[in-house]
Amino acid sequence: MKTVRLSKSKYLSGLQCHKRLWLEIHKPELAPLSPPGQQRIFDQGTRVGELATEEFPDGVLIKADYLNIPEAIEQTKEALDNSVDVIFEGCFVFENVLVRPDIILRNDLGGWNMIEVKSSTSVKEENIHDVAVQTWVLQGYGLKMKRVFLKHINRNCVYPNLSDLFKTEDITEPVNAVLTSVPKKLSEYKSMLDKSEPNVLIGQHCGNPYDCQFVGYCWKDVPEHSIFNIPRLRWTDKEHLIEDNRIGIDDLPAEFPLNENQQKYINSSESQQPIIDWDGIKGELDKLEYPLHFLDFETDSPAIPRFDGLHPYEQFPFQYSCHILDENGSLKHFEYLHKSESDPRQGLVESLTKAIGETGSVIAYNAGFEKGVMNKLAQWCPEYSEQLQSIIERLWDQLVIFRKYYTDYRFKGLNSLKSVLPVIVPSLSYDKLDVSDGIEAQVTWNEMIQIADGDEKKSILIKELKEYCGQDTLVMVKIHREVLIK
Ligand code: SF4
Repeated sequence: MKTVRLSKSKYLSGLQCHKRLWLEIHKPELAPLSPPGQQRIFDQGTRVGELATEEFPDGVLIKADYLNIPEAIEQTKEALDNSVDVIFEGCFVFENVLVRPDIILRNDLGGWNMIEVKSSTSVKEENIHDVAVQTWVLQGYGLKMKRVFLKHINRNCVYPNLSDLFKTEDITEPVNAVLTSVPKKLSEYKSMLDKSEPNVLIGQHCGNPYDCQFVGYCWKDVPEHSIFNIPRLRWTDKEHLIEDNRIGIDDLPAEFPLNENQQKYINSSESQQPIIDWDGIKGELDKLEYPLHFLDFETDSPAIPRFDGLHPYEQFPFQYSCHILDENGSLKHFEYLHKSESDPRQGLVESLTKAIGETGSVIAYNAGFEKGVMNKLAQWCPEYSEQLQSIIERLWDQLVIFRKYYTDYRFKGLNSLKSVLPVIVPSLSYDKLDVSDGIEAQVTWNEMIQIADGDEKKSILIKELKEYCGQDTLVMVKIHREVLIK
């Protein structure tokens, strides 16, 4: 077989799973295209990388991209020959492994330091291996590597002061500790890649440390109702069952130890019937007071904060939907969607506190999330804190019904709105919507606010966002009316 050139990301794929690396090399067409949220993560990473290099105004960027590696190698060589002190995205190859370190810089000891930039907020084990393989290549190439650093996002930074957006940690010691494992791993990979597809069982590694893009291929034989649907089953237990080829729910040994919730799920699966505690549900419903406000927020949490007082990755709401149900059965709808790049919080909180009066329960699905959003709104907009506190005190969580009193094997062990809905209100579906989950809502919102008012595309995206958030609260109304109090 032709010798395969490996990159840093391929090295890390191999660390996660040999089969993943083998598929990336030999059958890349089995990986689906990246979902829209993935593109946003890449774009965010690019922006973080650009900001991280601002500290070095004299740095030279190797412009040739991954489609033109020979040119990138040539440009890097030129920069080194010209005694450039700081190089961004240099291109180095050693023993057929190619790496492009974010930043390398000459140090006072006549050698080089390396800085790897990450959008995460701490150093993770996978970062150590990431930097180790790069260090190994740079050393092999002939650079005297001295110290290596990870520059990551600093959660304590507060907008508008972005001067401490990054925290730089010296990771030379942990990287040196794994450096000798790099050539061993590479030779393992090379011999594995020369053979046929390795036989690797599915397991926790399929999503750890990264979501593997071949899940659709490797998990295709997992039955619709499987051990992966048993609520909160530990990975060690799942992996023993996988080894014994007991993946279908019907393959679970009769003596397998289960807790009360897990047993309920199995009972529902065996009887093919939901298990519903109507007395428990009635007890929860008795706590409600009309008018009922069904509330849902959409939020964003960018790596680089852009509004006053926000930390990196701190959530802020840009949209809410609220359906209000009166005791006589009449239903009204209120909503707010921020449509420009300005700070959405003040406009949203004004609208929200007007829509939700001083009486009546406020129903949310997973109400801890809505509570967290409103607690923050109360800090950011203290003039509304009393009204927000009153809304928080009236929160009632519809999720509790499906966590405690309503088990159906067709929810597949989950109890999110999107798992419950197709089973209990099949007439409503998210499949027909253009925006169908919270990540897509974030991506769509960020696209929409950058489009000028009056543009047709902006109107389309506004409509899609309103349909999506409005559906979330309408679904809760339907569950309440058609399932819980019918
Ligand atoms: S889905 Fe799992 S088993 Fe398959 S290649 Fe990915 S990590 Fe390996």
